[in-house]
Amino acid sequence: MRSNVRISAPAVRAALRSVQRRSFTASASRQAQWGFIGLGQMGYNMARNLQAKLPSSDTMKVYDINPAMVERFANDTKALTSGAAVEAVANVRDAAEDSETTITVLPEPSHVKNVFGHILKPPLSESHVSNPDRLFIDCSTIDPASSREVANAVHSTEQGRFVDAPMSGGVVGATAGTLTFMLGAPDSLVSRVEPILLMMGKKVLHCGAQGAGLSGKLANNYLLAINNIATAEAMNLGMKWGLDPMVLGNLINISTGKCWPSSVNNPVKGVVDGSPASRDFQGGFGLSLMKKDLGLAIIAAAEAGAKLELGDRAKEVYEAAEQREDCKGRDFSVVYRYLGGAE
Ligand code: NAD
Repeated sequence: MRSNVRISAPAVRAALRSVQRRSFTASASRQAQWGFIGLGQMGYNMARNLQAKLPSSDTMKVYDINPAMVERFANDTKALTSGAAVEAVANVRDAAEDSETTITVLPEPSHVKNVFGHILKPPLSESHVSNPDRLFIDCSTIDPASSREVANAVHSTEQGRFVDAPMSGGVVGATAGTLTFMLGAPDSLVSRVEPILLMMGKKVLHCGAQGAGLSGKLANNYLLAINNIATAEAMNLGMKWGLDPMVLGNLINISTGKCWPSSVNNPVKGVVDGSPASRDFQGGFGLSLMKKDLGLAIIAAAEAGAKLELGDRAKEVYEAAEQREDCKGRDFSVVYRYLGGAE
């Protein structure tokens, strides 16, 4: 049985690649080498799930700009005897060069543009993977225009195919492998991309052409951003009027105001068991991520000519909450505390 130790002898690696290449050619769904870039809160856990589900003959090249994350990943997987072999690499180029599929999970548009700038120039070698076989899956939440710009750089230089697959489900979903992916890809690529995403999640929603996954994700998160503030305001309002928070929470959750922030992530401690409010708003979906997604939605709305009445005001609320020491770095339902809600 193969252990998960990196194969260091170049000749052995070359022989293995040649075998892998042959098997890839024999079956379109067979993957031989994978690149994974961005081992942060989401990417680390997604990469662990992917590594575990890949056949032991495959190799996964991992990279993060933070060497500690790469080292941690290599250490955590080195004793494993199943799943893909893990190879820590020194730059994004090495992760992508000979990989049929490269997955990126990066924070912001600038990071995605920067990484692809390094991957695509000079053009990737075709000695192990031909360009038509090369697939890039970007799971970062960025704006659709930036994503299309990167896709265009990949497609216009004919170095592969680029699809967007942002996700929801948070760190909990990334760890459990239960993420939902929103895929922006041509119909012809869906059957290739979907099984890959399902190694890291439970659902793939094909939203349309490249960029559409991000449009879907940002529309959802725009609604979430507003619902979260409105829930905090409504709970605070009702309690100031003298309502018991449990009575009010239950009322909303069987009535027309019901939404995810009221029914799952309720900002008042005790209304919903296990919500971040019950642990001083630690963990969960951070204020800064909500602010980032809302900002991306506002930019994308302006580009599309879609009028938003509430977006800018909601963004100001998240920005102001983030300035407060007792809110900063916490779950976004901490907006309730920012509003002065009773705790
Ligand atoms: P994170 O900041 O924890 O991780 C990002 C990783 O990318 C870091 O480890 C960082 O070192 C690395 N990185 C940055 N620049 C790089 C570069 N040039 N080359 C290689 N690596 C680089 O972020 P995260 O929470 O994992 O989120 C990743 C993406 O997923 C974001 O776009 C975020 O909006 C989205 N997302 C996050 C959540 C969540 O709950 N955290 C949920 C859904 C979607």
